Amino acid sequence: MTAGSTVTRERTTNLARLRGFVTSFAELLASTRNEAEVLQSGAKLLARLVAHDDWLPDACALPHPDRYQQYLLHCDSRERFSVVSFVWGAGQGTPIHDHRVWGLVGVLRGREAAQRYDRAPDGRLTAQPTIDTLNPGDVEAISPRSGDIHRVWNAHAEGPSVSIHVYGGNIGAVERATYAPDGTARRLISGYANAMVPNLWDRSV
Ligand code: FE
Repeated sequence: MTAGSTVTRERTTNLARLRGFVTSFAELLASTRNEAEVLQSGAKLLARLVAHDDWLPDACALPHPDRYQQYLLHCDSRERFSVVSFVWGAGQGTPIHDHRVWGLVGVLRGREAAQRYDRAPDGRLTAQPTIDTLNPGDVEAISPRSGDIHRVWNAHAEGPSVSIHVYGGNIGAVERATYAPDGTARRLISGYANAMVPNLWDRSV
């Protein structure tokens, strides 16, 4: 039964949905490079993508026992944007970090929480009092222009959460930073957990 249902699920993975999303996102970036417009229209595209949970390959939704995973789903050939699935096991979360490029986060499964930080000119960090909680279907935007330092964690106590992120660059290769609570910055180039990306382009399936 278990093996059978795994096969059924892989067969029905609707990669056309992800292909449609990346095609629409590339068209959006061809029509405007204005960040506010990209975030506004891109959020609608991402909301449509995470409204359905029938397209993410199981291999890109696997939690790791020790740390959250970032699976590259697609990178634009000009590295204008990348699409990543973040998989959080129970109790897992990020250090405080920044992005240096715009970002969109849409939750597909479980629940995710995020806390933003303000950074003073002397480098000190202050946590903002509100904690944002995102449920499946919710989408949030991040911009370096309005402050993009935050930490994110799995707010779903019983099991993994999965969120789909879109960034204004090849995020695994962007040189950025993690921060200690006292504001000390450490260089970060995150990379990705996977060596192979899903094949979006086989139109025979
Ligand atoms: Fe982040």
